Amino acid sequence: MSGDLANIGLIGLAVMGQNLILNMADKGFKVCAYNRTTSKVDDFLANEAKGNSNVIGAHSIEELCKKLERPRKIILLVKAGAAVDSFIAQLEPFLEKGDIIIDGGNSHYPDSIRRTKELEAKGLLFVGSGVSGGEEGARHGPSLMPGGSPAAWPAIKEIFQKTAAQAMGEPCCDWVGEGGSGHYVKMVHNGIEYGDMQLIAEAYDILKRGLGCDEDEIADIFDKWNKGVLDSFLIEITRDILRKKDDDGQAIVTKILDKAGQKGTGKWTAINALDLGCPVTLIGEAVFARCLSAIKDERVRASKALAGPERETFSGNKQQFIDDLEQALYASKIISYAQGFILFREAAKEYGWNLNNGGIAQMWRGGCIIKSVFLADITKAFQKDPKLESLLFDDFFKNAIENAQPGWRRVVAQSTLWGIPIPAFTTALSFFDGYRTEQLPASLIQAQRDYFGAHTFRVIPGKESEKLPLNQDV
Ligand code: NAP
Repeated sequence: MSGDLANIGLIGLAVMGQNLILNMADKGFKVCAYNRTTSKVDDFLANEAKGNSNVIGAHSIEELCKKLERPRKIILLVKAGAAVDSFIAQLEPFLEKGDIIIDGGNSHYPDSIRRTKELEAKGLLFVGSGVSGGEEGARHGPSLMPGGSPAAWPAIKEIFQKTAAQAMGEPCCDWVGEGGSGHYVKMVHNGIEYGDMQLIAEAYDILKRGLGCDEDEIADIFDKWNKGVLDSFLIEITRDILRKKDDDGQAIVTKILDKAGQKGTGKWTAINALDLGCPVTLIGEAVFARCLSAIKDERVRASKALAGPERETFSGNKQQFIDDLEQALYASKIISYAQGFILFREAAKEYGWNLNNGGIAQMWRGGCIIKSVFLADITKAFQKDPKLESLLFDDFFKNAIENAQPGWRRVVAQSTLWGIPIPAFTTALSFFDGYRTEQLPASLIQAQRDYFGAHTFRVIPGKESEKLPLNQDV
């Protein structure tokens, strides 16, 4: 009898849902499909899933729940927001203790924290899972980042790990942690994606306007970088994009209006970092760089009114500078990920999560936009020391930054002299210099705060004197 029942149900037959069903079916799992507009169930069964014995359909929530083995596992892949709450409410009357609702949409993590609490209070289990990789990932192997009710993991582990992308034989899916941590990690993933893209765009600008390379030359440089420490999906697609030509032979990228859009996950990450008092500066700069790009008309007026330095032709060793730039990109990327993991550390404290740091890096190894070889080194660092305070304290990354430092500084200095904007490279280096500084000028800020606002300050132990207001606390 249970052989006729589906292993898992999926609600939401738009692009993500359809592809994920076909992927799970390929991996040997029987899936029952449902959609609000039920004609889409029939269309899907008659077309994309035609003849697929691992896909069945339902025309009501009740029918869906009857067709699932227990504990029931139901993935929602619907528009984030009210649609998720509406389906949870419709499912509840037909579910039993221990059944699992999984939200695979792009929900904001506070909603997932709330939904986990509400469903657990009713004896049900909830999982908010980050799903990355778009349509292609859903069909052939996404990066899956599930978090929520820990009791749900053993029941969904096999389906999730087999459906996910595989990197070096390991699934790009593991248990992230409690509550809304799955969607939180997906949000930070997107923020890091903003940072990686900004760094690559700055490297392109330096090569083009600083060194005077054309798109073909730059594509060749990215091709070479893609065989080294920067080996990643974003470097690979950048190389391919730069080689794309219009009919007139011009590189297509030169015809694209320079206004970057955003959907909000980078902004959410930056806002959360500010809320937690966490110096996630690179993602913040990447979001602001998109905002600056968006005020195009104003920039055009400013470009006519405001002069920068005279840009001299580069007279140094070009290949040496390109190698420096590779190191600058690598070091800045290490800083960005180190900042991301500092944010995870603080979020885990704030929200009471036990985050699986090494597992998170492994989940990003394949199936998603930020997939890269470099993530394996992050996993190794956390495997060596699961309580690692910062990636910058790991010997591998400490050495990598040390080696990159001279070239990184030369790139930041030269680009600044050229007047080429490099907010991500600059903030990465400033963060590094601030992080490794024992005595910062924040003492002066505290003195100013006290002078104009009587905010008081703490005195360095051993430096007490009568002129100072002693034993004051901030
Ligand atoms: P979508 O366009 O975001 O949503 C369409 C689905 O949601 C349809 O099944 C639709 O049902 C249902 N829906 C919309 N409003 C509803 C409501 N008020 N009540 C009930 N059902 C409602 O679909 P998608 O692009 O496949 O994405 C699904 C989820 O995955 C989203 O949260 C999205 O953000 C996330 N995601 C998407 C991508 C991507 O590359 N597209 C990547 C990662 C994550 P009807 O057919 O009845 O209208």
